[in-house]
Amino acid sequence: MPHSRSIKGTPISTGLAHGPLHVVRGDAPEVPTWVVPASDVPAEIGRLAAALQSAGEELERQRRAVAASSGDKDAEIFAVHRMILQDPSALGEVEKAIAEERINAEAAVGRLIERFHRTLTALDGASVRGFAADVSDPWQRVLDTLLERDRRELDSSQEKVVLAAPELTPRVCAWLPRERVLAIVCESGGRFSHGAVLARSMGLPCVVGLPGLLARLEQGMHITVDGDRGQVQLKPSPEDLADFERRVGERQRRRRDVERFAPLPARAACGHRLETQVNIESLLDLPHFEPEHTDGVGLLRTEFLYMERSSFPSEEEQYRLYRRVVEHMRGRPVTIRTLDIGADKQLPYFQTPKERNPALGWRGLRISLQWPDLIQVQLRAALRASAHGPLRLLLPMVGSLEQIDQMRRIFDGVRASLTEQGYECAEDLPVGAMIEVPSALLSLHQIIAHVDFVSVGTNDLVQYLLAVDRDNAFVAGLYDPLHPAVLSALQRVAEVSRRAGKACSVCGDIASDPAFAVLLMGLGFDAVSTAPHFVPEIKYGLSRVSLAQAQELVRAVLAAERSQEVRQLLKDWQAELSTSAGR
Ligand code: PEP
Ligand code: MG
Repeated sequence: MPHSRSIKGTPISTGLAHGPLHVVRGDAPEVPTWVVPASDVPAEIGRLAAALQSAGEELERQRRAVAASSGDKDAEIFAVHRMILQDPSALGEVEKAIAEERINAEAAVGRLIERFHRTLTALDGASVRGFAADVSDPWQRVLDTLLERDRRELDSSQEKVVLAAPELTPRVCAWLPRERVLAIVCESGGRFSHGAVLARSMGLPCVVGLPGLLARLEQGMHITVDGDRGQVQLKPSPEDLADFERRVGERQRRRRDVERFAPLPARAACGHRLETQVNIESLLDLPHFEPEHTDGVGLLRTEFLYMERSSFPSEEEQYRLYRRVVEHMRGRPVTIRTLDIGADKQLPYFQTPKERNPALGWRGLRISLQWPDLIQVQLRAALRASAHGPLRLLLPMVGSLEQIDQMRRIFDGVRASLTEQGYECAEDLPVGAMIEVPSALLSLHQIIAHVDFVSVGTNDLVQYLLAVDRDNAFVAGLYDPLHPAVLSALQRVAEVSRRAGKACSVCGDIASDPAFAVLLMGLGFDAVSTAPHFVPEIKYGLSRVSLAQAQELVRAVLAAERSQEVRQLLKDWQAELSTSAGR
């Protein structure tokens, strides 16, 4: 990376922000390393000492508990671990790294653990390797303590920060309450990964693709983040800041102009409607938009509601969650997507097996069908909430008609038992399929007769159509929603749905791009569903064109043979839409 303080990365989520930086780990395997200024070295060694003490106390607590329940013999290991932590040579090594290399305590401890592993695993013999794990275990505990204490301390301060992390994951986005986060910068992360989806939905400026960034950072250092251009600037000068503030002002003015479209219905200039629904990830999203400014919730990502907790929500808790959303929407439909966990959407309290290829593994509907009791609870809660307002169900990762049949059987069973128990539920609860797996796309002409609506999950559809992992930074450049294959897939969905007389929408993140939304209208989609703060921009974009113009754009785009041409066509439209903003 060049040594300029201004660094170019990949823009993930638009917006401008500046403030003090805080480096976090999220759930990336690497330990974050940052620079500790010489004056902060004693404080850093103090952080290490505090973490060592608290890890030692925790070990002693566990020793006593195990001794009481299983006897002294079983508890011995905890005493051994405490002794390992008291070894002065290991401690000296860590302190030396902090003082001389001026790295943070986490990084210094991480290096010690790595060294244990390297030296001992190089030796032969299973028992020696077991020993390597034993000596590093207590230090791993110190590392976890450091990271957790850091989070708690940050949480208890009131400071707003820019988060920096090795990789953009959902956990990084949820590291702090959202009102405390100004922006996020990460060394790596996919543009359509779930972390990216969350950052956008939270409206947090975000830039990734900044290899080696963390090693240039100091905790608390000031930084500006330009999520529009994908630029970050370390320690900006007063002139840099003045220029940045000027752009912030311009952006706010444009946003106010576009905001005028928020209360208007989403219509093209000729009056044609494209419904604008919203994607909801958290109940915290609800106060940030007016239900009357939307056409309902097009995607309630229920797994994120589950992620905000420390155990599976009970039926009653889920019922209350869904009912709150349904009541909040005041008569507008709410589309509850059934649990879509797996791959990078892991629940801390629900361990799925380690998989070699998680995106192709145990995910979404596959888990629900294998473990029907999980989905039964969710369906019961959703059906009960349907008594309070219009509700629809959306099935993720549908790959075949059999899966829909199986799900229908579970659904019918749940409904019958609720009725028997005297619960009130809506008579008619539309069930839709997400189209995000190529087999569902190619058999859509068969599937469509068995569902009430479809919604395209472009985030996944692109990854599966193009065989490009949405979470893998190495292939991020190949992840291309404008690939002609993707556009022809979208055309197919619109066409098959239209012929069957079923509603179709797109709820993947690409729909939040106003030029793309125009394209989707031209293709014949009925709705787009995006994070709430994109709605005014989309309405504004639609208001600038007629359906006939959108169809003309579609013809040009479908005739393009390369995504480069598609990109240029959309760029021209985007330029046209934004230059006329605020006229
Ligand atoms: C999608 O895949 O486009 C989608 C909307 O679902 P998720 O991003 O949660 O996988
Ligand atoms: Mg998906």
